[in-house]
Amino acid sequence: MAAPNPVTLSIIVPIFNEEAVIPELYRRITAVMEGIDINWEMVCINDGSQDRSVEMLLALRQTDPRIKLLDFSRNFGHQIAITAGLDYAEGDAVVIIDADLQDPPEVIAEMLARWREGYEVVYAVRADRQGESFFKLWTANAFYRLLRSITDVDIPLDAGDFRLMDRQVVRTMRSLRENHRFMRGLSSWVGYKQIGVEYHRAERFAGETKYPLRKMLRLTTDAITSFSYVPLRMATWFGFSLAVISLIGVLVTIGLRLSGNNAFYGQATTLVAVLFLGGIQLIFLGILGEYLGRIYDEVKERPLYIVAHAHGFDEADNPTQ
Ligand code: UDP
Ligand code: MG
Repeated sequence: MAAPNPVTLSIIVPIFNEEAVIPELYRRITAVMEGIDINWEMVCINDGSQDRSVEMLLALRQTDPRIKLLDFSRNFGHQIAITAGLDYAEGDAVVIIDADLQDPPEVIAEMLARWREGYEVVYAVRADRQGESFFKLWTANAFYRLLRSITDVDIPLDAGDFRLMDRQVVRTMRSLRENHRFMRGLSSWVGYKQIGVEYHRAERFAGETKYPLRKMLRLTTDAITSFSYVPLRMATWFGFSLAVISLIGVLVTIGLRLSGNNAFYGQATTLVAVLFLGGIQLIFLGILGEYLGRIYDEVKERPLYIVAHAHGFDEADNPTQ
């Protein structure tokens, strides 16, 4: 008979230049976990931090071996960091949480309660967000709704990566090795018994956001291309519509000419029509390129991440290494 799993809950925390929040993060998580009587580990993934994050985590590990650290060889991105956390987590359940305390660790207790009721994925839904710009609120809002309208996967609105997953779900997630990953989409895609819990998203405890507009846009295109063909199909719809409109245009022009009307003479009409169509064609070439580039990345089959140092993990247990 296998020995009982020593770790009940793994808390996965991606870390990218978070020296300003690490002490408070540790304090809040330990405080919450003290109130819940289970074995836990905190799997931190250093995603190529340039600051003192690694030293701080290793120092914490000296006194508390429940803190484990995967040190990436460079910055691979938030979604990949979470992926590595899922690959290495040992717990019967896993919670993914941001380091900046925007996801309050106190919600973990409620997630565990739901898990014990039999739910296999418990995702946290933002009832409101504090301290974020109007731009971020508006774009996030529009993004979730757009994504939902163009995919077949039932991705819950206003839910981020802050969620609990049962070990079974984690195993399934590990089998998904695509390069361009939208983790919350994948976690909906796998199915299982899911439920949401509401929470109030706090302000970042300290430091700056590690998601500049460039990274946000990349996440958005990854999400859309991973879960929808609608952008590709738009070319077909546009093509049909334009073909029908031009056919009507041809008939109207012939009619006008026959009745002796001189409309649509001159180059301007031609030029505008050609440039318009040229623009549309380039846009769709670009969209095609987004999908094509992603196919190329998948074909290369490079590893999703490179762990330079692993602290606290049994190498033999981790075939990914
Ligand atoms: N993060 C990461 N790699 C990156 C960017 C961010 O591991 O390239 C981590 C970051 O340390 C934090 C989480 O992802 O724990 C969410 O980032 P952040 O809070 O800056 O994003 P925001 O809440 O502003 O969208
Ligand atoms: Mg944040």
